[in-house]
Amino acid sequence: MIKKHSKEYLETLTPYRAYEMLLQGNGRFINNLKSDHDHLELIDQTREGQYPFAVILSCMDSRTSVELIFDQGLGDLFSIRVAGNIVNNDILASIEYAVKYVGSKVLMVLGHTECGAIRSAKQGITDGHLTDLLNRIQPSITKAMLDDKEYLFEDKVAYANVENSLEEILTRSKIVKDMFENKQIGIVGGVYNVENGQVDFFKNLTKKMKGDKQLVDTQSKKELTLD
Ligand SMILES: [Zn+2]
Repeated sequence: MIKKHSKEYLETLTPYRAYEMLLQGNGRFINNLKSDHDHLELIDQTREGQYPFAVILSCMDSRTSVELIFDQGLGDLFSIRVAGNIVNNDILASIEYAVKYVGSKVLMVLGHTECGAIRSAKQGITDGHLTDLLNRIQPSITKAMLDDKEYLFEDKVAYANVENSLEEILTRSKIVKDMFENKQIGIVGGVYNVENGQVDFFKNLTKKMKGDKQLVDTQSKKELTLD
């Protein structure tokens, strides 16, 4: 059996399966079915290296810790956190390192409802270094006002802001764009709801592959009903 925290494990994992692991992890979280993470055992398993299956850009908000809301343990996720989940060159470099040099299979941008950074940007606050960061959120506010898609109805700037960050990553990082187009990585956008703990995976650009279908079929025991 291939060990979970190993290079071989990441190499056999498909982007779609990595996306499903996030989806299922949040399902466990909201149903209070958290896995029993043995942290001392995980320290032992990861002492020689790290092979996180996903890299997630999310907000610094204390309610949106990705290991908790996706029910993951030590060594499972690369977590990049910054107020308002905005993108800059250092963040692009961190993402490129995760997908190209470590082999993470899925890249997620995660926004959340009731975001203080978005609220401050809406209020036009200018102060110290906040001015520059909040300016990066302004295009999302403009876009949300123009856009009238149904899913953008509530907290629409949070959704537009995730879309904006994904777009920036894909247009500014050739490494990410090429790996995504070659189906080496998947891309997902989501918004975490601070009222109920649920992540709305509203954008999934992750392609399903042949092996993924088998996996889903096996799990639903479809092969038992074939004849
Ligand atoms: Zn926030």
